[in-house]
Amino acid sequence: MPGLSRVVVEASEAMSVKYNTMVYELQQRGKHVVVMSLGEAYFDIPMVPMEELAQPDVHHYSHSRGLLDLRRKLADYFRTEYGVDFDPDQQVIVTAGSKAAIHMTFMSILNPGDEVIYSEPAWVSYPEQIRLCYATPVGLPYEKSVYDFEEFVTSKTKAIVINNPNNPRGQVLDRKELEHVLKLARKYDLWVLSDEAYSDFLMDDSFISLAALDPDKKHAVVFNSMSKNYGISGWRIGYVIANKELISNVLKVNQHLITCPATILQHYLARNFHRRLEITKPQIRDVVCKRKQVAAYMDQIGLTYLPGTATFYLFVSIAPSKLGSEAFCTRLLQDESVCVVPGIGYGKSCDAFIRVSVGAASFEEIQYGLGKIKELIDKTS
Ligand code: PMP
Repeated sequence: MPGLSRVVVEASEAMSVKYNTMVYELQQRGKHVVVMSLGEAYFDIPMVPMEELAQPDVHHYSHSRGLLDLRRKLADYFRTEYGVDFDPDQQVIVTAGSKAAIHMTFMSILNPGDEVIYSEPAWVSYPEQIRLCYATPVGLPYEKSVYDFEEFVTSKTKAIVINNPNNPRGQVLDRKELEHVLKLARKYDLWVLSDEAYSDFLMDDSFISLAALDPDKKHAVVFNSMSKNYGISGWRIGYVIANKELISNVLKVNQHLITCPATILQHYLARNFHRRLEITKPQIRDVVCKRKQVAAYMDQIGLTYLPGTATFYLFVSIAPSKLGSEAFCTRLLQDESVCVVPGIGYGKSCDAFIRVSVGAASFEEIQYGLGKIKELIDKTS
């Protein structure tokens, strides 16, 4: 067989996707699984008829920056919700999920050998996407904070990635922390990629978009997504906001890779933008509330987790267990039909953790699952 690309051969599978695929396979065989591994919250979302959308436009490619009407709605939303101004003509691209937006941005800023700094636990795709761009991921161990970033800056550092609020720990960065990251970016001339996919999953209004603190977007690049805030991850609609020069570069990549995300879905979302938010906002509040109740239940049964208040994830310690996180999760799934994601997928400092998602299972099922987790920790300590 002819050879394969080394970087792709050496890349890891996305840990969350790997475990969710095992769940789908078990479910297909008729097994009931308590699913606490999914990276999404399940909302009740009524369908609105598609017939009223603009014909025949919906059947054809849209502008490669994304449908202008949708970009304008996003610009209004950012202005009113986050106090961020961006030009919908030149400073945003709607992409097929924010995952693609992040990757295309890495492609647009990185040269081989560049380094990118981020904190662990980190979303599973940052290190692999960085490697796929022939650059080097530099993950800080989970005990470190943004105030430790500077120690890791070298002459090769090109960017810092922050994920605010964070998947999987649910941490929200405050103004001082964000200002500190921007200060470093100015000092060392770095990009700061701020992945804000969970921006609405908070109990209060403490979320600050990085772009609000860097109005000219000299350093700040913001990613967001309709996957989580709108509960439609399968629609694959995300976006990137940045200065005009960077956006023009990302646009070239977008034109060569995907042209545009599904036009019909962009029309649908532009037309139903506010209606959809009215439907999901209360459900978002409910799921963040559920997270808080789950955290209280963990306190009660003696499970510990990294501090955090947002999203629908908790990063739970399995520390006394002698099993590594993959062995732990595989055994939990095989023996107890409870699925969570191994912490090792979120960085090498995180093998004594698992990610628990409260987005899809009922509170009772989660209680049951957590009981099984506690039992397995005790059994294998
Ligand atoms: N960033 C984070 C932190 C995520 O958790 C996810 C999805 N799990 C994404 C980005 C990508 O989301 P999407 O491609 O669906 O917009």
